[in-house]
Amino acid sequence: MKACPREPEVVEAVTRGDWRQATALGDNDLRAHAASCAACGELVTLMQALREDHAVACRAADVPAAGTVWWRATIRARAEAAEKAARPITLAQGVAAASIAGVAAAFAGVAWRAFPSLPQPDPFVMLALGLGVCIVIAPLVLVFTLARD
Ligand SMILES: [Zn+2]
Repeated sequence: MKACPREPEVVEAVTRGDWRQATALGDNDLRAHAASCAACGELVTLMQALREDHAVACRAADVPAAGTVWWRATIRARAEAAEKAARPITLAQGVAAASIAGVAAAFAGVAWRAFPSLPQPDPFVMLALGLGVCIVIAPLVLVFTLARD
């Protein structure tokens, strides 16, 4: 369907208020055009339906009391502040856990070399074992980090 050049006028007249009031204010020419133009007629029908739906939805909306809204906003603000304050702590805990794991691996390596009687593993086996541990631990870390709710 081709756009009508008078569409903006029709949209403004319907948007201003009730289409019937708009036409009562002197937009009879516009109303006659909407009756004869298929695009504008459809537009008026659609916009009136949307406006009526909006009005019904506004009447049916269950608006809570001001005190309830304030109380919820306060609780939400506190929760957001607590979450914001906990982020650096979570990061520090992650860094500490990674450091502990690194130090433990270093001690294990030193201890392994200190006792040559222990069987010496193949470096590729150790690399594969390390990658396997990371593959298992990384999703767990993500789950525990992101599942705070
Ligand atoms: Zn038109």
